[in-house]
Amino acid sequence: MKYASAALLGLLLTVAFSTADANNGKGIPGDADKRFAQLETLLPTAGTTRTASGAPGAQYWQQRADYRIKVRLDEKRHRLIATQSITYMNRSPDTLSYIWLQLDQNIFKDDSISRRSEVAANSGTRRDTVGKGDSLSFAAMRRHQAFQDREYGYEIGPVRDASGRVLRTTVNDTMMRIDLPQPLRPGTSIEIRFDWESNIVNEAAIGARGGYEYFEESDTYQYFLAQWFPRLVAYTDYTGWQHKQFLGRGEFTLEFGDYDVELTVPADHIVASTGELQNADAVLTSTQRERLKRAATAKSPVFIVTPEEAKANEKEGTDRMRTWRFKAQNVRDFAWASSRKYIWDAMGYRQNDAARPFVMAMSFYPNEGEPIWSKYSTHAVIHTMEVYSRFSFPYPYPVAISVNSWERGGMEYPMITFNGYRPTADEKTGKLTYSRNTKYGLIGVIIHEVGHIYFPMIVNSDERQWTWMDEGLNTFLEYIAELEWEEKFPAFGDKTNVLDAITAYMQSSDQVPIMTNSESIVQFGPNAYSKPAAALSVLREVVMGRELFDHAFREYANRWKFKRPTPADFFRTMEDASGVDLDWFWRGWFYGTDHVDVAVGDIREYQVSSQDPDVEFPLKRAEFARNWPDSYSQKLNKAEGRTTRLERYPELKDFYNENDAFVVTNKDRNEYRDFVEKLKPWEKATFERAVKAGEFVYFVDFANIGGLVTPLPLTINYADGSTEDYLVPAEVWRYNAVEVTKLFIRDKRIVSIELDRNHLIADADKTNNVTPRRIAQSRIELFRARDSGRNQMLDALAELKSKGKSGDEAKTEEKALPLAPAQP
Ligand SMILES: [Zn+2]
Repeated sequence: MKYASAALLGLLLTVAFSTADANNGKGIPGDADKRFAQLETLLPTAGTTRTASGAPGAQYWQQRADYRIKVRLDEKRHRLIATQSITYMNRSPDTLSYIWLQLDQNIFKDDSISRRSEVAANSGTRRDTVGKGDSLSFAAMRRHQAFQDREYGYEIGPVRDASGRVLRTTVNDTMMRIDLPQPLRPGTSIEIRFDWESNIVNEAAIGARGGYEYFEESDTYQYFLAQWFPRLVAYTDYTGWQHKQFLGRGEFTLEFGDYDVELTVPADHIVASTGELQNADAVLTSTQRERLKRAATAKSPVFIVTPEEAKANEKEGTDRMRTWRFKAQNVRDFAWASSRKYIWDAMGYRQNDAARPFVMAMSFYPNEGEPIWSKYSTHAVIHTMEVYSRFSFPYPYPVAISVNSWERGGMEYPMITFNGYRPTADEKTGKLTYSRNTKYGLIGVIIHEVGHIYFPMIVNSDERQWTWMDEGLNTFLEYIAELEWEEKFPAFGDKTNVLDAITAYMQSSDQVPIMTNSESIVQFGPNAYSKPAAALSVLREVVMGRELFDHAFREYANRWKFKRPTPADFFRTMEDASGVDLDWFWRGWFYGTDHVDVAVGDIREYQVSSQDPDVEFPLKRAEFARNWPDSYSQKLNKAEGRTTRLERYPELKDFYNENDAFVVTNKDRNEYRDFVEKLKPWEKATFERAVKAGEFVYFVDFANIGGLVTPLPLTINYADGSTEDYLVPAEVWRYNAVEVTKLFIRDKRIVSIELDRNHLIADADKTNNVTPRRIAQSRIELFRARDSGRNQMLDALAELKSKGKSGDEAKTEEKALPLAPAQP
């Protein structure tokens, strides 16, 4: 018995993994316990407004703000002149003695916190930052000049209540406090009215989410107005007034409400806007109205304004004005665009929803956007609704709009999105071409911005606090929609797979966790967009599986549509609805900055020993010979013709020269019999079955190099050519987050084990993902050493480029070689 157990133990001991000094002798290796600790201590305490399950609670509340705005677009002065009223409903349990308005246009004032806190590196524009070190771009200088030329920010008249009484106001940068004559009690409302004016920024020069765009060649403009009016600041159960100043990145946190907006614009303009057009008869021609009717049932987009009509329309200009009236219900913001340049196409979208069976998808763009805008834009709008609704809820609004408002990038508002990308015209021939990047950038940005109508325009997360809650969730769904647009869609630059695109960022050193306030994020794009998208992709395809993930995600969207979720509500709902403990996942991916890199280490193969010396000793002899080859010096001695003493004096031979250590003795046989006899019945049965089966026993080492605990999707390759997929859950790291050894018992021989063959977990270093290692194969290009440096003497011989058509004049001037020494 003792012998037996010692033997079995010996087998285990020889393969015991080396835990090295990963934990320096203190605590649990790799802080495994902390990585799997529950999140409760980090999350806000659940209560009656937000439950521990992640749903809105029985006492959930949110405020409401209804708007009535009349605004005139002064095209000559690039200026908005408006009259506005807001009805604010206090549905909170709190009495409010003041309310706050958000004045986003004040970010462009010379003394704004945003502008004064800019550092040199972001003093360019939103798109063109200056270079590294001391450098100054044309864009940065143009922006400086644009600020020099005009005053920006709101000019707001007296704020009055419904009775006409003037209320006390205090402007604090991008916020304005309005002191109420009487405290606003729960369940009551107040109406405020004021006039305001503001200059519209030149978006290309200043960098903004809205403004005007000037088209030099045709001397024409388009206006796309976003964050253009003073809006009620959100008052919430988790932070009170969300009046964190607008610094430019953290977007907005707003209240839902109804809008009635009259837009007075030059009479030849076409207007695209949040909401439903109320006076089509007054602003559209009968032809346009007839085309709209046709578009509702069309199989492809129908022009409401054709490219030719738009081209003709932009030629003249007019001094006459016309008012377009739009109403929008249950939206958290309102944006619009206006230009005499617009082509307009539309196509109806039907969905299985009794409340909103029909949505009109529309696109507005100048001729500069053609031919790709009429081909892709409206299709992309409808595609987005098809895919996003499957993951959330039916699109709830009457229209979904894409406007081509700038060269690249995009921005979202309820029902309307502003999107970039246009073809380029060759300077000489005028021939239009567009790059792969432009094509897929266009489709991608429209999906992304229309997707934002779901997140955060409906699932109303706090953008000023958490960028990832809208950008991350939205980028994830955008990625899903892009894969459903066409196969191999280059969703992330040259890569399709978000998990391949994210590894470089996750290995970089200047990182902050996803759970970082919007204004403090470094490496904004990967942090708030692609890393959360990558994380959700790992959750869906590996950790949870599609069935559990899709149900939980849909639950989150439906619990929080037209409400205001926080990160905890998302984390909790995903667990609550799926029954999967994801606290380790949120900790690693959302609260940490480690990356994924697991190495497949040694694989050791065994078969269960029969312990019968007559069977095992010969095998041990062979194994000994494999592991300990004869001394090389001995071989060389032999080659030199040297003989041993034993060879020269055979009489020195004895028992040990005839019998090696692996020759079986009767004592060995007796011990074996003794061992077998003393086995308990179950041990004997197990032993005999195992020996007979002859299965292969594998001990496989894994090293967690990146630090992030991760599930291990393995592909096991067998000697017979077959393969097996095997998913090791992340919980394998719960006692030791640095190195683990897995036991596999299989009835056929394994030849290799590969981790993450399908690129599912963002493993950063693929070279250590397979045992035995694979040789990387590629092509290598020979290069020439380049002669660098300025040859001033040669350069002096170069001809001056002539401006004229013939270079004759320049050619006639013979240059003399500057060989004479320079004269003082
Ligand atoms: Zn976005």
